Amino acid sequence: MLPGPVPLSERVRAAMARQAINHRGPEFGEAYADIVRVLRSVFQTKNDPLVLSGSGTAAMEAAIANFGQGRKIAHLVNGKFGERLFDIGKRYGQAVPLASEWGTPLQIERLEQELEGGCEIVTMVHNETSAGILNPAKEVGALCRKHDALFIMDGVTSIGGDTVMVDEWGVDVAIVGSQKCLAAPAGLSALSVSERAWDRFTGNAPYYLDLGAYQKSAMKSPMETPYTPAVPLFLGLREACLMIEEEGVDARIARHHRMAESVRTAAEVWGLSLYPKIDALHHYSQTVTAVNLPDGVKDKEFRGIIKKLGIQIAGGQDHLKDVIFRIGHMGAVSAPEILATLAITEHALQKLGYNPEGHGVAAAAEVLG
Ligand code: PLP
Repeated sequence: MLPGPVPLSERVRAAMARQAINHRGPEFGEAYADIVRVLRSVFQTKNDPLVLSGSGTAAMEAAIANFGQGRKIAHLVNGKFGERLFDIGKRYGQAVPLASEWGTPLQIERLEQELEGGCEIVTMVHNETSAGILNPAKEVGALCRKHDALFIMDGVTSIGGDTVMVDEWGVDVAIVGSQKCLAAPAGLSALSVSERAWDRFTGNAPYYLDLGAYQKSAMKSPMETPYTPAVPLFLGLREACLMIEEEGVDARIARHHRMAESVRTAAEVWGLSLYPKIDALHHYSQTVTAVNLPDGVKDKEFRGIIKKLGIQIAGGQDHLKDVIFRIGHMGAVSAPEILATLAITEHALQKLGYNPEGHGVAAAAEVLG
């Protein structure tokens, strides 16, 4: 129950347990084509996403290196991964941080000023995993269009688990990681690129991350990648994508929303507060819930008890260590796993001296039932 990597289904594991295949042959090309077909519907885009043999961070770097090189980039930051985009931006462009406290609303007004001042690129994390907050992609996309800036969106933990409408929202580069809501093995990432972005392609990214090369290879028949890809991971991702297609994207998103609501309900009934500070534009994440640890409950002992009983949840990162705990509810997770997690969490809270105000597990079961 981490916010990635998530457990892999038997089908996904079996798809990877096989003899090597030629990555320049039809079998690989068909697997890649299946992935792209499903990802188009998950991203809600007409553009064919490109798949990189590298985790989400590789795609974040590829996005900035290919489209932000030498340009003025405004980085909206309210958590660890927003900070990471800014760190990457500093290596390639003229990076301007628009930073808020982790888990608090983004500085949208300052963004408007930066856009009026000639900023050409904007980066934002849609679902900020470190703080459990969902940022306003549609609104930021509209601002970018208004000022003719490119919008790079990290959808690493939203795409495949929550509503994302890449084309309608005007997202120029959207990024997903394999090990999160897609429920595939870790090690791959995918990104979609709009025509507007290709028109501004700088063409001088690091050799291995040159998206022009990925695009050229993807247009071949059978589809290819420019260099030897992580073939077993592609086969695992293809199977995970077929499972998404079978479930249906809308049903999958609705399931994630239900799971998130059940976890939030449990926290509320226990008398625990959620970490993010939301407003009309910012919402609670539908794929990871960040909860404030009650006074006196130490993260190490708390998660230790939960882990001993067979379930792993996440703590806070960086300065949020010992401040929050995070329950991931993304991927193929189902009601019984959520309820087991909540029951063990309730037990750990009690064992460490916190008396929940009410029956969180029962309340969550009502939401899921
Ligand atoms: N962006 C977000 C929102 C994430 O949650 C993560 C990982 O947790 C990343 C980027 C980095 O992805 P990776 O660890 O796959 O490189």
